[in-house]
Amino acid sequence: MRNWREIPLFEGVTDSEWNDWHWQWKNRIEDVETLSKVVELSDEAKRGIQEALTRVRMAITPYYASLMDPHDESCPVRLQAIPRGQEARQMPWESVDPLDEEADSPVPGLTHRYPDRVLFLVTEQCSMYCRHCTRRRVVGVTDRVAPPERIEQGLQYIREHKEIRDVLISGGDPFTLSDDKVEFIVRKIREIPHVEIIRIGTRTPVVMPQRITEKLARMLAKYHPVYINTHFNHPKEITPESSRACAILADAGIPLGNQSVLLRGVNNCPFVMRELVQGLLRIRVKPYYIYQCDLTWGLEHFRTTIGEGLEIMEYLRGHTTGLAVPTYVVDAPGGGGKIPLSPQYILAMGKNTVVVRNYEGVISGYREPEYDPSENLDAGGKCRLCRSDHRDALGVAGLLAGEKVSLVPQGTKRLERRKDHHPSGEAGCVFTQE
Ligand SMILES: *Cc1c(COP(=O)(O)O)cnc(C)c1O
Ligand code: SF4
Repeated sequence: MRNWREIPLFEGVTDSEWNDWHWQWKNRIEDVETLSKVVELSDEAKRGIQEALTRVRMAITPYYASLMDPHDESCPVRLQAIPRGQEARQMPWESVDPLDEEADSPVPGLTHRYPDRVLFLVTEQCSMYCRHCTRRRVVGVTDRVAPPERIEQGLQYIREHKEIRDVLISGGDPFTLSDDKVEFIVRKIREIPHVEIIRIGTRTPVVMPQRITEKLARMLAKYHPVYINTHFNHPKEITPESSRACAILADAGIPLGNQSVLLRGVNNCPFVMRELVQGLLRIRVKPYYIYQCDLTWGLEHFRTTIGEGLEIMEYLRGHTTGLAVPTYVVDAPGGGGKIPLSPQYILAMGKNTVVVRNYEGVISGYREPEYDPSENLDAGGKCRLCRSDHRDALGVAGLLAGEKVSLVPQGTKRLERRKDHHPSGEAGCVFTQE
């Protein structure tokens, strides 16, 4: 890795400027000419950037640019930061909002998809615009902070919905806001009695680690429990600076998690991924998710097959520390939410035996106990352990609870024909077929 002081563009920059996130923010690289003072760019690469910039924007912090290999266009840091021409192209299966987040937004900037938690988007700006951003429909269109009325609307929604026990503050990148603005939002959420945990999603430890200051960490610690999830995709991003940023947060008692995106040419290799997850544990970051790349427009060149993701998981589980093994998820197109994907470890199931295999290929039979599964129920049908009747179980859990016998897609021709026998609105009709 280069010393930033040796990069011509940063000649004359002082250490205190470099270490100040405001300087990093103000001096972000946004055009080809400036970028070509940091890395070699072929004419083709320059044309690709120009082509992509007609549709998306570029902004790279000097720090993140200093991690780039100046001579190698396939450098994983470059691939995440420098646009390519393919970004301007759209495949028929790609869309603006593949996760259908808008449809699950009761108020602008807040997505309420899961029963007990919400995603609260408090800004549309980021310090570095990732080439693989799934929320590019809003992120980086302008460097815009959500207007105060929108924040207030979100807060009000959370106040009014007592079932929300977990608020995930994201964006854009919440840490592009000033300490005061971040504190305002976190404090307002903490004042809501039914909110138990606050989570913040930020890529600043990776792309602008100068943002993580002792002062910020001390402020956040006043509102515990606060969790932070960050976004490392490649071992090369684990530097003295990003390690220090994570240490400051961890020292403030903030548990750190990481969400990676599986990206072709960047980290779709089991060995790179293993090095990444092990490196994360060394800097006290728990690998949380590996995401299958979403079907957002302009990302075809980044996407891998799901098979490749499963292959990577096969190389992790058992081969390395269990704590280092994240959950591999695909965010289901159309608003299905995150679905975990795993290699198949159950080979067969019989009446009382489950046949499982381990990472080495050892196959074992697990003999199950003999007991009456209803022994937990009291005479009134309530569970003795939790004192409830498990009746509000949703979805597949509802099938297991015996509350429903089936989940039936609505709007099918078959259902129409069967109308008399299959009244609409019956419990369990959770799907709408378009
Ligand atoms: C990812 C996500 C969450 C949080 O999911 P967890 O699995 O709890 O981390 C919440 N809401 C939305 C809309 C999300 O996409
Ligand atoms: S930091 Fe997150 S929201 Fe911002 S550009 Fe990158 S992926 Fe998108």
